[in-house]
Amino acid sequence: MATQITTGTSELRDITKMERIGAHSHIRGLGLDDRLEPRENSQGMVGQAKARKAAGMILKMVQEGRIAGRAMLFAGPPSTGKTAIALGMAQTLGPDVPFTMIAASEVFSLSMSKTEALTQAFRRSIGVRIKEETEIIEGEVVEIQIDRSLTGATKTGKLTIKTTDMETIYDLGNKMIDALSKEKVTAGDVISIDKTSGKVTKLGRSFARSRDYDAMGADTKFVQCPEGEIQKRKEVVHTVSLHEIDVINSRTQGFLALFAGDTGEIKPELRNQINAKVAEWREEGKAEIIPGVLFIDEVHMLDIECFSFLNRALENELAPLVIMASNRGVARIRGTNLHSPHGLPPDLLDRVLIVSTQPYTPDDIKYIIKIRCEEEDVTLTDSALDILTHLAADTTLRYVLNLISCAQMLAKKRKSEAVEDTDIRRAYGYFFDEKRSVQWIKEQQHRLVS
Ligand code: ATP
Repeated sequence: MATQITTGTSELRDITKMERIGAHSHIRGLGLDDRLEPRENSQGMVGQAKARKAAGMILKMVQEGRIAGRAMLFAGPPSTGKTAIALGMAQTLGPDVPFTMIAASEVFSLSMSKTEALTQAFRRSIGVRIKEETEIIEGEVVEIQIDRSLTGATKTGKLTIKTTDMETIYDLGNKMIDALSKEKVTAGDVISIDKTSGKVTKLGRSFARSRDYDAMGADTKFVQCPEGEIQKRKEVVHTVSLHEIDVINSRTQGFLALFAGDTGEIKPELRNQINAKVAEWREEGKAEIIPGVLFIDEVHMLDIECFSFLNRALENELAPLVIMASNRGVARIRGTNLHSPHGLPPDLLDRVLIVSTQPYTPDDIKYIIKIRCEEEDVTLTDSALDILTHLAADTTLRYVLNLISCAQMLAKKRKSEAVEDTDIRRAYGYFFDEKRSVQWIKEQQHRLVS
């Protein structure tokens, strides 16, 4: 029995993806100019010029569809912006290109195998842009394009649908075509037709530049009409991921599993059917594949089985761009006794483009702190900013960024609008950075449970 594959897009359209407001909420892109040169401070990004430029070049290739199924690795010390740059890439690609972010440790769970978790992450990162036809509904604006083969001119008119009665729509549409064909209006003009009298009013070209026109046109698609005929349907386009199609069509899971986030394992046969169906849609011109990006943070936490899966999965025709990040030097490859750079096996390392991130200069750090203060609505005195900048050199950028909101709380308690030196000192006293914590453990070793 043939299985009916559905994209479930009507339901999916209603899902609003929630964005995490957090450590990276100030990042709005890679901050590159048109020639992919990094601007000093743009879109929340500061410094790390080489890595940003490299990321921009990769993005360009993704956008031109030239780099699906490839992998890159951001390698560098902690807090040097590996995750920030990956998120900048996601922002640049825009909402229509799938971007999935996982920490390698998420792959290890009791509810599904490692390879299933990775497969799901891969398929979440492949978009399918589907063209569907929908019924015209009341209140919508449809654009009607008439290709007059006799005169050779293409004319366009807009019609607001005030009724769902197809007879009336046809009638109005035909009157519009009539008006257009009598040369009363010219291509690009917008006309309205009175429903009862059929009177055609020319709204003029300036209307086409007005806000009303933009609002009308926002979700309007062209409908190509043969002469004298109105199409009943209009075309809409939306993008879903292969994983979403998998889940919706999985008998044991179903659409609601997408909300719960607990999708369980999906049978390989179903995936094969879906791949075949998507290939069919592509051939019929109904769908287009959008290879997206899968970002795997802390990639050294994967084990040798996962790495071998990655090697193979990257060969697949339906593979996204895989971006990995690691802050490890030479480390053990999990699941083996072998050591290797970044804890990655040599055969995988060999196929990735490696981009290194460098420690920041004090000026860069100062700028990043300022940006975060703006983002968190914190006023910092100049000397408090200097203290934080020095502190970052001794600890890490991330520790210092975390201190900002703690210090602000302390400032508020003092009823001070601005965060001053004293607030930073007190926050520093309350919260340890890693180095001090290690030191403290060493001193207290005899009292702690081992
Ligand atoms: P780790 O190896 O520990 O995972 P990482 O290299 O991924 O670290 P991030 O988490 O990206 O480091 O950076 C730490 C913080 O500094 C984040 O809040 C990030 O948004 C910010 N940050 C890092 N680099 C930049 C930058 N170039 N411009 C602006 N903000 C940055």
